[in-house]
Amino acid sequence: MPRLAVLGHPVSHSRSPAMQTAALEALGLAEEWTYVAIDVAPEAFEARVAAMVADGFFGTNVTVPHKIAAFRLADRRSAVAAAIGAANTLSFTADGIEADNTDAPGLIDSLPAPPAGERALVLGAGGSARACAWALREAGAEVEIWNRTHARAAELAAELGVAAVDADPGASPLGAGAYALIVNTTTVGLESSNEPGAAPAAGVADLKALPLDADHLEARHIVVDLVYGSSPTPLVTIARSRGATVVDGLEILVRQGAHSLRIWTGLDPPLDVMREAARNG
Ligand code: NAP
Repeated sequence: MPRLAVLGHPVSHSRSPAMQTAALEALGLAEEWTYVAIDVAPEAFEARVAAMVADGFFGTNVTVPHKIAAFRLADRRSAVAAAIGAANTLSFTADGIEADNTDAPGLIDSLPAPPAGERALVLGAGGSARACAWALREAGAEVEIWNRTHARAAELAAELGVAAVDADPGASPLGAGAYALIVNTTTVGLESSNEPGAAPAAGVADLKALPLDADHLEARHIVVDLVYGSSPTPLVTIARSRGATVVDGLEILVRQGAHSLRIWTGLDPPLDVMREAARNG
């Protein structure tokens, strides 16, 4: 029986088991294939993966904080994973562990149109920012990176050969109007989107951590927020209210998960089934 999993820490909030199980059912594979969440602390990650291989697991998704460790322990890496230096998908094969990164193609798939030639602002300089900035650059966008800690933005931008922008969210926000595409990869919004009934003020306070002047958002903008929770994030709420096209974190989850499922099964993933399960999960 091919077994799959998602490894994270924490991971109990993950919608991946509900989403991937629904997809396996729709593909007629649920009798044989399973997908579960496994919480593993960073210090136990490598041993846990070795145990999964010994137990006959077929593969696993990997989420925060294990993506770099997953990349490092693999025997072989896809070109995308190698370029990004992080993996979110591992396949356990007879020839060893193969690492892939489906966050990058998942982001591009989620956009309403190819971003070639568009000016794109990536907020954040962590693991997801690296995948997003790389994917957008590869797709021909003009990428700029902002981060709370500017030195990290400068370092990532230099590595990718794109621009870093410096701005103090409070004093000198970046004119959002200058960008066609804005991608939030920071954790800003995570708490308020997971607090049922959080006061609107919490979301407004969240947005003050980002260098965006929301008054500049309009219908021509595409706003992507990787963060997801039990309710829409403040950025998603404001961008929608301004008429922008919004891609939320659940759509990003679906798109990266669809790529992973295709890698493991070789089948076309049922996107609508996955969307519904991710949103209800
Ligand atoms: P990470 O590597 O830990 O990076 C976190 C980033 O958030 C850093 O740039 C950090 O800036 C910034 N940040 C943290 N607190 C902040 C604050 N108060 N104000 C401004 N910036 C702040 O995390 P990651 O792996 O990239 O993940 C980032 C988010 O994306 C998480 O919420 C994660 O759940 C989400 N995500 C979603 C999906 C999906 O499928 N939807 C996939 C991947 C990730 P500093 O450098 O200054 O600390």
